[in-house]
Amino acid sequence: MSDCLFCRIVAGEIPADVVLSTDEVLAFRDIDPKAPVHVLVVPREHFANIHELAIAAPSLTSSLIAAAADVAESEGVADAYRLVFNTGAQVGQSVFHVHGHILGGRDFTWPPG
Ligand code: AMP
Repeated sequence: MSDCLFCRIVAGEIPADVVLSTDEVLAFRDIDPKAPVHVLVVPREHFANIHELAIAAPSLTSSLIAAAADVAESEGVADAYRLVFNTGAQVGQSVFHVHGHILGGRDFTWPPG
């Protein structure tokens, strides 16, 4: 989809700080990080959100989660991280190409500590 930001990153048309690249998946640093580690993991193929991906392509869904685990390992946060998929504008999704946020390196508990 030529008007999709993450399709354009996958195609190499828009630069990104890539941390993992496979035949199926790309992972790159979020441009506006909310934690010391904030990496986005996306399938190369376009699906709007995790709900559509999980129903249409369970094997690719599995690859995406496995890639997120690999990124957590390589980023040194495998012991504690969040993997977040926003699904729908109402809950904050702003880019409609499915992406998991891998967030780590700080305390997310409330109250902190
Ligand atoms: P969401 O709100 O769940 O759809 O998340 C979209 C994420 O994409 C946000 O955290 C943005 O900071 C991030 N983002 C937007 N544009 C870029 C970009 N060009 N490169 C990397 N991350 C981006």
